[in-house]
Amino acid sequence: MEKLIKGFELFRKVTYPTKQRLFKKLASAQAPHTLVITCADSRVVPEYFTSSDPGQLFVVRNVGNIVPPYAQFTGGVSAAIEYAVVALGVKDIVICGHSDCGAMKATLNPASVSEMQAVAAWLRHAEVAKHVLDENYTLDSNASRLYALTEENVIAQLDHLRTHPSVAARIASGKLGIHGWIYDIETADIRVFDPDERKFVTLEIQDDTITAKLPVAAADALAEGKRRPSTAASRANGIRAVVYAGTDL
Ligand SMILES: [Zn+2]
Repeated sequence: MEKLIKGFELFRKVTYPTKQRLFKKLASAQAPHTLVITCADSRVVPEYFTSSDPGQLFVVRNVGNIVPPYAQFTGGVSAAIEYAVVALGVKDIVICGHSDCGAMKATLNPASVSEMQAVAAWLRHAEVAKHVLDENYTLDSNASRLYALTEENVIAQLDHLRTHPSVAARIASGKLGIHGWIYDIETADIRVFDPDERKFVTLEIQDDTITAKLPVAAADALAEGKRRPSTAASRANGIRAVVYAGTDL
């Protein structure tokens, strides 16, 4: 608890004074542009890896970045989706899975959560991805199976997301885009689902537009990173040279 309170103290004394205008603006209204549905895993912090301020992302986190199908289960996730879409009018929804996901490991090995009934029941919403994996992939290593399941789970949850009436209506009218991402904790890569190819591709960023906005030290660090051998550099920085064109489904 001490760490938490010290952290709050640091926020109050250092961060808050520099962002007072923002907090004043946010005191009476919010207008987030994106709903992010991601895992509760402590290593996955969408505001952090998208450099977002308070007020920009509406974030829902749960074990396994799951979206229960609308007709099957009405709970906190469904309510948050409806609120973000109808009341707040978010323009995009991102379902973000991640590397080394404990929920995906448990889906591969249900015995590991046999004594956690709530977790096991919740993970049934990811069962569809496990079936896709079992019937369509021939993978030997646990790492490849975990990787493939993580991808199939994001695809399955995108399918579930489309069963929500508020989402389906706005996709149909072109007012909402839905996207599948997988965040790599170690390399800071993001892989994006391309629905046309039905595969995930690395999120590619036009880095000159980024460097133009960076403080000098950060731009130097980025340039230094780019001088590494090409594959290692792109994996280390999570940055490739092509523009991300979006993947509205
Ligand atoms: Zn996870």
